[in-house]
Amino acid sequence: MRDKWGEALTTQEPIPPFVTPPWQQGPKTYIDKDDETARERHDRETATGHDLSIYTDGSGIEDRIGAAAVCPHTGDNQAAIWSVIKAEGRTGAYILEEIARQIQDLQDRGRPVRIRWVPAHEGIPGNEAADMAAKEATGWRENGRRAPTASEPPRLFTLRSTLKRRCKQQAEIAWNAKWRKETKGRATFRNTPSPTKRVLKIHKGLRKRDSALLVQLRTEKIGLKDFLFSRKVPDVASSRCDCGAIRQTVAHVLLHCRTHNDLRNRIFGDRPGRHNLRTILNKPQLATKAIEYMEQTQILGQFGIADA
Ligand SMILES: [Zn+2]
Repeated sequence: MRDKWGEALTTQEPIPPFVTPPWQQGPKTYIDKDDETARERHDRETATGHDLSIYTDGSGIEDRIGAAAVCPHTGDNQAAIWSVIKAEGRTGAYILEEIARQIQDLQDRGRPVRIRWVPAHEGIPGNEAADMAAKEATGWRENGRRAPTASEPPRLFTLRSTLKRRCKQQAEIAWNAKWRKETKGRATFRNTPSPTKRVLKIHKGLRKRDSALLVQLRTEKIGLKDFLFSRKVPDVASSRCDCGAIRQTVAHVLLHCRTHNDLRNRIFGDRPGRHNLRTILNKPQLATKAIEYMEQTQILGQFGIADA
């Protein structure tokens, strides 16, 4: 991980075990049941002029996250509100810890803090100003031109959830690149262009010999003439199929061999995907049919699967 991330790892966020001591009285937090109720309460309470209202919002544009707090003289941010309520030992907690500290500071000085969710797009001016400011913090402008982004907060760490996600992405990119470059197992590559754990799923519930046959079909290392002949197996004089086709390959037998037309139609019916080798070998239902079909053709003969 350090290889890939270097310094980014050392700026990983600290996760405090508790954001607030368990006995601490946090701010009162309200989330009304719907937009209308929230809006009515907002209008009622701001009308008194007793409180100082600060509107906040966050916005993600083009890979940048902007956050804003607006305080007019008189955000649509439910998620953040919930986080304040139950933030313990979770990712992003270092931000919430700071928020909690500042709120406590205010309350200690006799200024009670209330956190309230207000709906977006309801014509609440402070809220709309916060929404606009959050967007502009990312460098976005209404006229389509870009502007400098807002300054970064003094303490900024990479969230642990982000790091985890990026590491996973990097590993997958590396795996995919290797999978493409590899010179061995090219048949497997054709049938499974990108590596995935889903391959394991199609083997689930198969008998051991069926599972082995499926592996042979997918790798094309199988007792069919084309493969046997290429490996110079004694008594295999050509790659030709008994039907006359030049190469008896997995694709030929599963999709085209006219000797087995009836059997093929009976087993695959009109299942979608039956004419596509990749689909057949990757969809559990079709793979099961392919196994049944191969066994009934008895084409593998002495080079078939030994009973386990
Ligand atoms: Zn044939």
